[in-house]
Amino acid sequence: MLVIFHPDADDREILAVLDRIHSTGAGSQRVDGAEQTVIGVIDADRDHIASLELDADPGVDRVVPVSSPYKLAHKHRHDGAPYPVTVGGVAFGGPTPEFRLILGPCAVETREQTMAAAIACKAAGADLLRGGAFKPRTSPYAFQGLGLDGLKILAEAREETGLPIVTELTDLRDIDAVVRYADCIQVGARNMQHFPLLTEIGRAGLPVLLKRGLGASIDDFLLAAEYILTEGNSEVVLCERGIHANATPARSCLDLAAVTVLKEHTHLPVIVDPSHAAGRRALVEPLALAAAACGADGLIVECHPDPKQARCDGPQAITLDVLDEFCTRVRSVAAVATA
Ligand code: PEP
Ligand code: MN
Repeated sequence: MLVIFHPDADDREILAVLDRIHSTGAGSQRVDGAEQTVIGVIDADRDHIASLELDADPGVDRVVPVSSPYKLAHKHRHDGAPYPVTVGGVAFGGPTPEFRLILGPCAVETREQTMAAAIACKAAGADLLRGGAFKPRTSPYAFQGLGLDGLKILAEAREETGLPIVTELTDLRDIDAVVRYADCIQVGARNMQHFPLLTEIGRAGLPVLLKRGLGASIDDFLLAAEYILTEGNSEVVLCERGIHANATPARSCLDLAAVTVLKEHTHLPVIVDPSHAAGRRALVEPLALAAAACGADGLIVECHPDPKQARCDGPQAITLDVLDEFCTRVRSVAAVATA
């Protein structure tokens, strides 16, 4: 952090600020320029220094943060190189990324529905199967998922297709069950800042698909990843899934700039969920193509054998008969983007 003084700040004001910085235990480096003095704050407790509100002190022009608040999620940790996260033998991101497709229903509803979707996803070239056994629903009256029975159905679908499974954990009480059946734990948008959940997931030993919160900034998102990384779990795939914005005609506003910005800041792979951003089927493919074009490492997309009968997110589910063509088209755009 840099404290920059007004050109007319006097030495008494500068020394007073230095005293306040040192009172927190931080060090300092003072540079007296031709016009202005600048103090570099070293080894600071960021929150403690911020609480001093130094920018209001006499003589101070402004305070500029220079280091990143997240240490392990920052790409400097990996010498600037992208890091491949492996889920059930499938690598996301990394130096020679392959575009990955996670397909499947929003929720596991029945064995038949999940199996039909899983077989079609496999045939269309999916890399992973998605499906929620624990559903975080806005309404307490909506279908909440099949729970443990849903996990068992997912495991059966993996057995049948060979596709590794991604499923959401919403509650710490279910962590052992999810770890037992899944290949990757999904953290949903609503739980991105459920910090005790992130900490336990960091200790659980499975890769994580971390979705961006509905109003989360890039710093919020990467600090959520940091909670997992600090527990020794470096296998985190980030997922942009749209943020709330009043003016968007879709369910959420898909923030594709975030894909590029995240890749500027972190070595972690970044995928996109066009389904939850879209909210309706007609928007899913255009958003998916755009995500592939802007350099995402993959997509997570909802599909259903009979969307009209779906108990969760039917209007945004693409049907199984279009999966083949959908996958071919997004993969061809991704190939152009990385060529
Ligand atoms: C989901 O993937 O089914 C889901 C609930 O997504 P999100 O947390 O992004 O809303
Ligand atoms: Mn859904």
